[in-house]
Amino acid sequence: MSTPTSTRTRSHWGWGFADRFPDGAARANLGKLLGARLGFEGLSVAEPVPLDAATIREPRIQPPSHSAALCSSALTERASHCYGKNYRDLIRAFSGRFENAPDIVARPTTEAQIAPLLDWASSEGVAVIPFGGGTSVCGGVEGDVGDRYRGVLSLDLTGLDRVLELDDCSRLARIQAGATVPQINRALGTHGLALRHYPQSYELATLGGYIATRSGGHYATLYTHIDELVAGTRMLTPSGVFETRCLPGSGAGPSPDRLVCGSEGILGVITEAWIRIQAKPIFRGQASVHFSSFSNAVEAVRAVAQSGLNPANCRLLDPREAALNMVAFDGSAVLILAFESASQPIEALLRQALAIATAYEGRCPDGPRLRTTRAGDPDEGASGGEGAAKSWRQAFLDAPYLLNVCVSLGVIADTFETAVTWKRFAAFHEGVIARVRAAMKEACGMGRISCRFTHVYPDGPAPYYTFLAPARRGAEIEQWMAIKSAAGKAVVDLGGTITHHHAVGRVHRPDYDRQRPELFARALSAARRAVDPAGIMNPGVLIDG
Ligand SMILES: Cc1cc2nc3c(=O)[nH]c(=O)nc-3n(C[C@H](O)[C@H](O)[C@H](O)COP(=O)(O)OP(=O)(O)OC[C@H]3O[C@@H](n4cnc5c(N)ncnc54)[C@H](O)[C@@H]3O)c2cc1C
Repeated sequence: MSTPTSTRTRSHWGWGFADRFPDGAARANLGKLLGARLGFEGLSVAEPVPLDAATIREPRIQPPSHSAALCSSALTERASHCYGKNYRDLIRAFSGRFENAPDIVARPTTEAQIAPLLDWASSEGVAVIPFGGGTSVCGGVEGDVGDRYRGVLSLDLTGLDRVLELDDCSRLARIQAGATVPQINRALGTHGLALRHYPQSYELATLGGYIATRSGGHYATLYTHIDELVAGTRMLTPSGVFETRCLPGSGAGPSPDRLVCGSEGILGVITEAWIRIQAKPIFRGQASVHFSSFSNAVEAVRAVAQSGLNPANCRLLDPREAALNMVAFDGSAVLILAFESASQPIEALLRQALAIATAYEGRCPDGPRLRTTRAGDPDEGASGGEGAAKSWRQAFLDAPYLLNVCVSLGVIADTFETAVTWKRFAAFHEGVIARVRAAMKEACGMGRISCRFTHVYPDGPAPYYTFLAPARRGAEIEQWMAIKSAAGKAVVDLGGTITHHHAVGRVHRPDYDRQRPELFARALSAARRAVDPAGIMNPGVLIDG
């Protein structure tokens, strides 16, 4: 099943497509609105440095002749594979600074084209960075590999974008790693099936990237991570093929798939996977519950998470987050609840969840909204909806484009996310907010931080924080570093994980190293030596190269 790719031009520096970047006048107006809402004075509009005026090093190596037709050292290719998409990546690219750019970008379209490239890189001492959608927010695709390597090859997997096989009987599909969810769902949609995994980056991120980073999708409970949907994997390593059996479950020792999930490109190139797919939902329902007290809202979410009802969406927005996302402006925290099912009405489940939530002094001004869709209706992505849920969904989809605008207006805007037990949450949250506010004050004079729960478990939430602070032009990276490192340190000091779903990459390494057991790092290094003796695969991510 072929999956046609988009022909729109990607921004050379920011998130997404170039045609979504507003012109200077529109950005100036947005700057006035944003400045008034955030209390940041004097925001001014800057323009991105055009690519032909950018600073980028000359390529240090030539591609091997056997693969020359797949490879390019063109400026546009190397610049667009230089960074992921966190604030530091965006501001560097916006300012025309393409540090650590890859020397070569290879775009294989078949799996057979990959092994010769890995052989060549192993013998020549060239670092290889698997590149999916390039939406990493933790430095996962940057060629910052140290000087042990002669050069860097960015291996773009988006040419491997097909659904190869459908096992309708077992509800499984064998899918190539470079496919995006829209591509996959166009191919599966004709069969009434879908991959129900919608991270906010789903327009551009790829299946291989999801697996390599253990991404978190739109399901707030149960199937939160891509891991739950992976039934088998195939990875090309410099030492050969690492392929697991496609199974519904297995107790045969430590799971080889679990080694692949979260490997972040350090063990090999994931080329395809067997993925659990689902019938497209028909019955949907949602409601939003407003709370005057954030701690009541947290207790309500805990009760819902522990009820066994397992809503598809259970996002709690604190008052700042609710205002930023145009969901509520009266200081309320808002819980967005949604259920979806392909087989049965969900009204009773939604009403039970609502009854639990409203018992904590929650109000549901609009009542529950129920919808039934038909098989031929367009895919609504994460949840569709009306009212507050609709505002939330639109803001959710537009937020990455707003980041581009923030960069141009001189606003530092980024996020960090974690998970922590319910028992620890209150003290954790207070401590994180205090420490990040102090860091913003010191680095930028002021700043705003807001929180939402992206996923919830019976034993704890996954809080996701957004910070916004006024930048000093030219000093943005130092300011961002000060805030980001204070956040990482606070999260791990106070008992959370350095990441719930954004992965470790290079940015989270210092705090990941404090969190993971030392013996585990040694075991992972040994596994890496077995599959990649020359240490060429994405050096510096997760463990030292
Ligand atoms: C606006 C925005 C919103 C986001 N929202 C979410 C969200 O809701 N949930 C979430 O989990 N994440 C989110 N992310 C983070 C990011 O989208 C995820 O980490 C995603 O899984 C990365 O996929 P990708 O294809 O873009 O991978 P890339 O960014 O290209 O790569 C990420 C890492 O995976 C490795 N890799 C990629 N493909 C392969 C492969 N085939 N084989 C081996 N290694 C590979 C890379 O080497 C790198 O280490 C968001 C990012 C942005 C910018």
